[in-house]
Amino acid sequence: MSDIPICHIIGGGLSGVACAYFLKKYYPDFHSTIYEAKEYIGGRSCSYFDDEWNMHINNAAHMVLSSDKFMKNFVHEEEWCDKVLFFDMETLGGNITLNDNMDIICRKICNTAYDDISFKVKSRVLRNFKSNHFMHPKFYAFNCDLTQRVINVLASYADEIHCSCKLTKVMSRKGHAHTLCFGNRSVRVRPCDRVIFALDNVSAVPFLKIPSLEYNNSVNISYYTSQTIFLPHGASFVGVKGGVVDWISISPNVVSAQICNYENNFTTFDKLALYVWSEISRIRGVNSAFMPSYRIEVNRYASVKMDGINNSLRPNNAKTIYDNIFMCGDWTMKNYPCTLEAAALSGERAVRTMLKFLK
Ligand SMILES: Cc1cc2nc3c(=O)[nH]c(=O)nc-3n(C[C@H](O)[C@H](O)[C@H](O)COP(=O)(O)OP(=O)(O)OC[C@H]3O[C@@H](n4cnc5c(N)ncnc54)[C@H](O)[C@@H]3O)c2cc1C
Repeated sequence: MSDIPICHIIGGGLSGVACAYFLKKYYPDFHSTIYEAKEYIGGRSCSYFDDEWNMHINNAAHMVLSSDKFMKNFVHEEEWCDKVLFFDMETLGGNITLNDNMDIICRKICNTAYDDISFKVKSRVLRNFKSNHFMHPKFYAFNCDLTQRVINVLASYADEIHCSCKLTKVMSRKGHAHTLCFGNRSVRVRPCDRVIFALDNVSAVPFLKIPSLEYNNSVNISYYTSQTIFLPHGASFVGVKGGVVDWISISPNVVSAQICNYENNFTTFDKLALYVWSEISRIRGVNSAFMPSYRIEVNRYASVKMDGINNSLRPNNAKTIYDNIFMCGDWTMKNYPCTLEAAALSGERAVRTMLKFLK
């Protein structure tokens, strides 16, 4: 048997593929193998190909901030927008001042009602804006293909990827994992090997002695438009105040609408889609008679509720009850909003921690 050490990465979301990337960067001698429960990698930040529309659609429109140092690498200079329109449904007017609209920005980033967001998480988000103040904070709405643009780029650093491989059991002795079970298949963890759990909190709880966190949902609706539509002031990204929809982003042929922490006010999601389209039409100042075809993504576990209680329960390091298993995932970065940036940073921290304990 080869004596090349293997790092078994459980979970192929952003944090998992980031582990493969950082492992190659810091310790290329390790062989990395990703095991993903679903048929495809990407987790919550994946995109999929829609045959009827003949294009890729994101699971959810993602916002990246200019202060997200790692995620910035995936955005082209010309794609950043520094003018975000904030539209008020009551006054039917808009402004573009970031500082006056921190509540709606934080609600998007934290998927939690502004007043509920933990003080520490909120101050980290606001601090990012302040420290970037003189560098003009910018946003990018990831309306492009997240899987192609981000996930596959990082996943290309993995030596092996196994999809439809769900971890079902960890066999251990004296706090040392020796076998990983994926249904009927088992994988031996040799003394030189290491394991990183890159799971969401709900999936990690059965394996690790960690607190169970509360999640908020989110609904994303993509509308197919035969031609690119325009919003007031030529904005391509709009935060909405006082409406059902929270954020709208425009890309060629697709309008994406996101409802953060959706509170189930409509009897069906089709009725929700119809209502949100009427709001988009009001913002555009046009009649909503024509309803385009649409796709609805309901993410029941979109992100951890970022209130004080949940934040206090979140871990702040990559160590677990096993001496050879480390963990990452957006929820493991206490006091950080659970975002793409946190997921990637947690992957880097898990790799660094693992290497530290290797010596
Ligand atoms: C609707 C929505 C909107 C969002 N908006 C933003 C935004 O605007 N900006 C932003 O930065 N972030 C946003 N996020 C958050 C961002 O998507 C997440 O922070 C990030 O994708 C989390 O990555 P992760 O790797 O930590 O977790 P996940 O993506 O959840 O990855 C975990 C992976 O583990 C796999 N898995 C689970 N159990 C097992 C098992 N037993 N065996 C093997 N594999 C398993 C899962 O299938 C999954 O692929 C949003 C998320 C959603 C859902």
